Amino acid sequence: MVHRELRDVAQTVSTGTLPAPERIERIVAAAHSRYRTDQDGAVADYIPVLAAADPDLFAVAVTEIDGDVHEAGDAGAGFTIQSISKAFVFALACEAHGHPALRERVGVDNTGLPFNSVIAVELNDGHPRNPMVNAGALATTALIPGATPAEQWERVRTGLSRFAGRGLELDGGAYHSEMLTNQRNSAIARLLESYGRIDVDPGALVDVYTRQCSLRVTAHDLAIMGATLADGGVNPVTGERVVSAQTARDTLAVLASTGMYERSGTWMFEVGVPAKSGVAGGIVAIAPGKGAIGTFSPRLDPAGNSVRGQRATAYLSRALGLNLFASDPHGPDGDGDATRAIDSREEPAL
Ligand code: GLN
Repeated sequence: MVHRELRDVAQTVSTGTLPAPERIERIVAAAHSRYRTDQDGAVADYIPVLAAADPDLFAVAVTEIDGDVHEAGDAGAGFTIQSISKAFVFALACEAHGHPALRERVGVDNTGLPFNSVIAVELNDGHPRNPMVNAGALATTALIPGATPAEQWERVRTGLSRFAGRGLELDGGAYHSEMLTNQRNSAIARLLESYGRIDVDPGALVDVYTRQCSLRVTAHDLAIMGATLADGGVNPVTGERVVSAQTARDTLAVLASTGMYERSGTWMFEVGVPAKSGVAGGIVAIAPGKGAIGTFSPRLDPAGNSVRGQRATAYLSRALGLNLFASDPHGPDGDGDATRAIDSREEPAL
């Protein structure tokens, strides 16, 4: 565990420091109660099992880089990680192959297209451009080392488990439900194959990808997984180095531009921290050098991002002073609080 004294040392990776733990605790509780009764959005139904989720579940968790966790609501409720897995599988692939290989093979630019876009592949001669839409995520999973798909899957499962600090397991019901309705992802994998962009069997690839999306996590897990990226690749609870600091940095850079799909620009404008969402209702948001937020609430906006999760994260970003682009003036004008101001005229449009 990192020593509490770190709080008093100037951060070199982003502006300011987190408030004291008791204050974080109160702010997390306030974020939860503020949005608890918010009913906006709709539960995803394109994967049949997701439609059965309890829409009222709501969890907020914050993990500091010293490993302290603060949470409110249903932080122990399990759900499938879905597209949030793309962030951590990208990190594992980046760790295995390095920064230039991922940039060239998969790309790091926003497509501006929905997560399940087939057009994204056709537009660029099969180059997926973006590891956070399904085309690029499939190409990224294809890069995970392993002699067989089973070995690749085990590498993904154990890798994501190290981020979480506990053994994550497959949600078999979710996996089977998605495998039966996976025609679109199968089409994308076949297209990638036709362009020579993957070196593995497309059917086996979709199977590994669907398994990675079906790993069961909690908001508590997401906050720890995110905090590992916030802490230079070291899990702040287990103390294990999961990926290098360079990989953690590269992963956050990708999330900053593409983590919230075609809403990533709005997200940066309103919230100012890299984040990744999944269609089961999870969101992880990362404040480098400070900590991470994990939220869970199944009702989604049209892009597939949890409504209460986005709003609670936006609130926390302001209340905890997480926005990467906010700064206090150097010298006597800086009171250390400007980045934490919640201006009611700036209610985020999320
Ligand atoms: N498993 C889902 C899919 O590939 C994940 C989508 C998501 O979370 N946006 O369609």
